[in-house]
Amino acid sequence: MLYGAELWTLNREKLSKLEKVQNIFLRVCLGLLSGTSGSAARGLLGLWTVGAEIDKRKLLFLRRLICASEDCVHRRVFMIRLNRWRWNPNKITGFVPDLVRILQKYCLWEYMDNFLQSGNFPSKSEWKKTVIENINHTEIEFWKIKTQRYKQLGLYSQVVKEPMRNLWLQFALENSEMANQVAIIVKILCGSFYVNGVRFTGEKTQFHCMSCGNYYINPVKHAMLHCCETQLARTKLWERITDFFPVEFVVNINSLDENNLMQTIFGNMQFMQGHDNNQVQNFYIIVAESISQIITITSYIDIYLDSETIH
Ligand SMILES: [Zn+2]
Repeated sequence: MLYGAELWTLNREKLSKLEKVQNIFLRVCLGLLSGTSGSAARGLLGLWTVGAEIDKRKLLFLRRLICASEDCVHRRVFMIRLNRWRWNPNKITGFVPDLVRILQKYCLWEYMDNFLQSGNFPSKSEWKKTVIENINHTEIEFWKIKTQRYKQLGLYSQVVKEPMRNLWLQFALENSEMANQVAIIVKILCGSFYVNGVRFTGEKTQFHCMSCGNYYINPVKHAMLHCCETQLARTKLWERITDFFPVEFVVNINSLDENNLMQTIFGNMQFMQGHDNNQVQNFYIIVAESISQIITITSYIDIYLDSETIH
């Protein structure tokens, strides 16, 4: 999709169309309902926005231009344009001012400034590392703003702390039999489901549970921790945890308050520190089974699998 992007000069509208295409792909890949936050999906896969990907290509291409041999035509054209821009920045449009904007956006202008003054530019590996680090930093900040804005991503924001390949997706890759369970967890995390036939919004609405007669605000928490409809599946989960894991591990899980417990079972490993990696992995395999079972048996939460996800 980005072939030749080094030389593109996109306006906001065209870039936004590309971002939308990426968001559609991501939602389809993860089986999310339309309208689910693309940033949330991107975060689970550890991907950058299309804009950042294009910027990276342009920045790496910039070094290739600068370091090409002096008699190369493309380098000479670039240097002429660069000098024209230097002495008349407001009159020049296109490739050079676009690069200047990108360098400034990622706090990389000092390298260009240094090149203009001394002719020196970082080595290939050094430049690549700096470019990736700086873009990543900007992307993480952008992702945080985007994902913290959506109310339906409340659980997501507590669980997914960084945009990188999520542990659930890693599980699904390593154990293909977990694919369906992981698909359900991903939908719950991204707020991509219905409650009593209405799309989940994350608003603090009070729902009345037809199964147990109680009121709840958070449908996932109600299903996972309180509802009598899911009591049996829940008891099974605790029995398995008690039977399978050492006492210290069980005590640790039992000592968590409701919010921390919810975060932990959905993949925030903050409270898992100090435990053996295999134990943690086994815990999440058991939990994945239980979450998918509990969510599937609730009569008020609707998760749409497969083709129904693309409305
Ligand atoms: Zn209930």
